Amino acid sequence: MGIEFRSDVTVELVRANASDADVVFAARVSTVGEQSLEDVDADPQRSVGLINYLMRDRHGSPFEHNSMTFFVKAPIFVWREHMRHRIASYNEESARYRELLPVFYVPSHERPLVQSGKPGAYEFHPGTPAQSELVERTIQESCTAAYSGYLEMLEAGVAREVARMVLPVTIYSSAYVTMNARALMNFLSLRRKVEGSYFVSYPQREIEMVAEVYEDHFAQLMPLTHSAFNEHGRVAP
Ligand SMILES: Cc1cc2nc3c(=O)[nH]c(=O)nc-3n(C[C@H](O)[C@H](O)[C@H](O)COP(=O)(O)OP(=O)(O)OC[C@H]3O[C@@H](n4cnc5c(N)ncnc54)[C@H](O)[C@@H]3O)c2cc1C
Repeated sequence: MGIEFRSDVTVELVRANASDADVVFAARVSTVGEQSLEDVDADPQRSVGLINYLMRDRHGSPFEHNSMTFFVKAPIFVWREHMRHRIASYNEESARYRELLPVFYVPSHERPLVQSGKPGAYEFHPGTPAQSELVERTIQESCTAAYSGYLEMLEAGVAREVARMVLPVTIYSSAYVTMNARALMNFLSLRRKVEGSYFVSYPQREIEMVAEVYEDHFAQLMPLTHSAFNEHGRVAP
């Protein structure tokens, strides 16, 4: 059957039309009216000041005139959380039109397994070797059994949309996700735990793995916006 177990996510930037100049360009229409993008690059220092001001005072709309498209392959339990972020565009592979591949998530040995503290602010700690073995064995056995039931139903002529009902949320699915910087900053503020943020969030580790790669791309594409975001407590404008 060739079942694959992975402990990571795939995140690739497939297309981007996003730069700090886009922010400045959009904001300056307020004060100087229409102008060209070349004018924006002419005075970088003023651009830093303007972007910082927009971020600090939460003038959010100038951060919307750009877009970043990612290809993401992640377990379905990550997608359930990801798709709560409505200010994004999604196209996901269909398990009605094609057979899902037998690729499942299993936590790596480094992934903390035990929680403590109160809801909304759980702390996570490493599991014992016995817990680690139990998690790995239980996930692998149940995914293998579920996928074999899936194949058995398909082979018996059952429709894909019915056969998939047996599959667990650890199975991987892929989608294109397009966001603008404002929506992405909202995503990053909620889906990464960064000490020193104005509002520290406590996300599930696996969606945070997606967020980390998003943030690396964002920082490269829009360095001034990214550093203003950090400087002002990682609060989405
Ligand atoms: C740590 C954590 C725990 C969570 N726990 C739960 C949980 O237990 N149960 C649960 O159901 N969800 C939970 N969520 C999901 C959370 O409530 C949000 O649905 C999710 O984070 C998406 O955030 P968002 O609405 O800001 O994003 P987006 O949908 O991308 O929206 C971005 C912004 O647009 C505005 N906006 C979008 N839609 C509307 C609207 N309809 N009305 C008004 N303004 C709008 C808001 O300003 C919003 O912040 C959790 C999230 C996190 C990070």
